[in-house]
Amino acid sequence: MEETMAFSSLRGCDRCPADDMLKKHEQSVKLSGIKRDIKELCEAVPQLVSVFKIKDKIGEGTFSSVYLATAQLQEGREEKIALKHLIPTSHPVRIAAELQCLTVAGGQDNVMGVKYCFRKNDHVVIAMPYLEHESFLDILNSLSFQEVREYMFNLFIALKRIHQFGIVHRDVKPSNFLYNRRLKKYALVDFGLAQGTRDTNIELLKFVQSEAQQEDCSRNKYHGVTGHKGPLSRPAPKTVDQQCTTKTSVKRPYANTQIHIKQGKDGKEGSVGLSVQRSVFGERNFNIHSSISHESPAEKIIKQSKTVDVISRKLATKKTAISTKAVNSVMRETARSCSAVLTCDCYGTDRVCSVCLSRRQQVAPRAGTPGFRAPEVLTKCPDQTTAIDMWSAGVIFLSLLSGRYPFYKASDDLTALAQIMTIRGSRETIQAAEAFGKSILCSKEVPAQDLRALCERLRGLDSTTPKSAIDPPGDISHDPAASENTDHKASHVQAAQAQHSEDTLYRRDSDGCQSHPRDCTANPEGWDSVPDEAYDLLDKLLDLNPASRITAETALLHPFFKDMCS
Ligand code: ADP
Ligand code: MG
Ligand code: ZN
Repeated sequence: MEETMAFSSLRGCDRCPADDMLKKHEQSVKLSGIKRDIKELCEAVPQLVSVFKIKDKIGEGTFSSVYLATAQLQEGREEKIALKHLIPTSHPVRIAAELQCLTVAGGQDNVMGVKYCFRKNDHVVIAMPYLEHESFLDILNSLSFQEVREYMFNLFIALKRIHQFGIVHRDVKPSNFLYNRRLKKYALVDFGLAQGTRDTNIELLKFVQSEAQQEDCSRNKYHGVTGHKGPLSRPAPKTVDQQCTTKTSVKRPYANTQIHIKQGKDGKEGSVGLSVQRSVFGERNFNIHSSISHESPAEKIIKQSKTVDVISRKLATKKTAISTKAVNSVMRETARSCSAVLTCDCYGTDRVCSVCLSRRQQVAPRAGTPGFRAPEVLTKCPDQTTAIDMWSAGVIFLSLLSGRYPFYKASDDLTALAQIMTIRGSRETIQAAEAFGKSILCSKEVPAQDLRALCERLRGLDSTTPKSAIDPPGDISHDPAASENTDHKASHVQAAQAQHSEDTLYRRDSDGCQSHPRDCTANPEGWDSVPDEAYDLLDKLLDLNPASRITAETALLHPFFKDMCS
């Protein structure tokens, strides 16, 4: 760092080299940014000010910002509160559903509860008990084996709870499962993507539509009609086209509720983009005007704005441009790398096929996180159950056992699927997909790996492998290809994507943020004798077939947790 040295000597200051100053400068910029955000929040929702002192910003995503605040209690004590400010463009029903998950299922069994909710105009703030928590990456390689057992056990307690209510979380990952190591406290948070099972107890989740269902419809549209808007409600598979109309009004069987959804009339490209955008974001920031006829819980919680948000419309259009661009380059790559049979049929035309569509996560990862998504989600199986959360729990467990995080580092669904194949086997994945009605084509076979051997190798525990030689299990330079037989449109994993040697499968040193394998001889902490039960449970969580995948309730009874009590 020549420049740095020159700079610091120029200044003649030994104790504050430029690096430090730069850091300080960055910090102060960040601080002023946070201050500004806090100020803006207080202006947007002024009633917060009379209740809380907002201290800091602790989380920021595409769809919310989370703040640490304190509330003055009567006895003079201060209570820490987390304030989640949802982006104003979130769909009112989506917000209400998130809130209902917290109020109905939360507050016990390691599921975050809610204290208050504030709203002014389209700003909604959810106030929750604050749980101080660790960064998963920071602690991953210092956890003892016993702590890993406790972590997983407590995760299953939370999942059992929400699954009992018919909630599918759909975004189970470490940042949504808060862990306070010292206090041994855990909390599942973030129901921003949750969906209901068919018989869910969470009334509002009945109005939240699954992405796969949206896509069934949009895909249909892309290859058939042009110039109209996306699907708006759960389409019955056979009546898909009918439901893909500009304005839809659907009577729900469950309640006396009607949702009218109306979308803008953008140009031709907009029509593709709008729907791409829609499936990317779920319903969260979509401009939908919904009216609920009888006073429903949704209405009680949130009064809905009847105006279409111009700003978010603009945002949507912008995103469209990006995704279209991404799609184009993918089409080109795809066309180059796929065999004739599988070449996508939209290349060079103005249509968009499922291959291209599947790239949308690159643009916005909000619709779950590809690396945690179950195979049935990745292949867009419309019937998704609570089993998808169990898969995600399995991926967390895989990280805990291997010391690698994130384990699957995929920016899109097909890459994620290819990565799963390299661990669970291509034949096995194909077979399982058949069971849930999807057919996957894979041009080369990759064997399933032994989970213990894999984890131990990655952790650096395998005594037969020198640490420097922690190398990819299996060469994955084949091109797996996926196609969905349900609509006879090929979707494919392109060669470039599939070339994920394990370098891209899970983070390596070069990423700068990979956890380093512990020196296990110096600090075994139970890692030298991981019982077979651990890998048996892992195997049952990473069951490719959702129908036979272990449930949270059964997982709690697994021998891996013997002598633990809930
Ligand atoms: P998003 O939908 O933006 O992901 P989350 O609900 O997951 O929002 O919250 C984002 C982050 O904020 C979490 O990963 C966590 O670090 C922090 N957070 C959320 N809720 C709480 C809470 N109750 N206590 C402490 N931190 C929280
Ligand atoms: Mg989150
Ligand atoms: Zn295509």
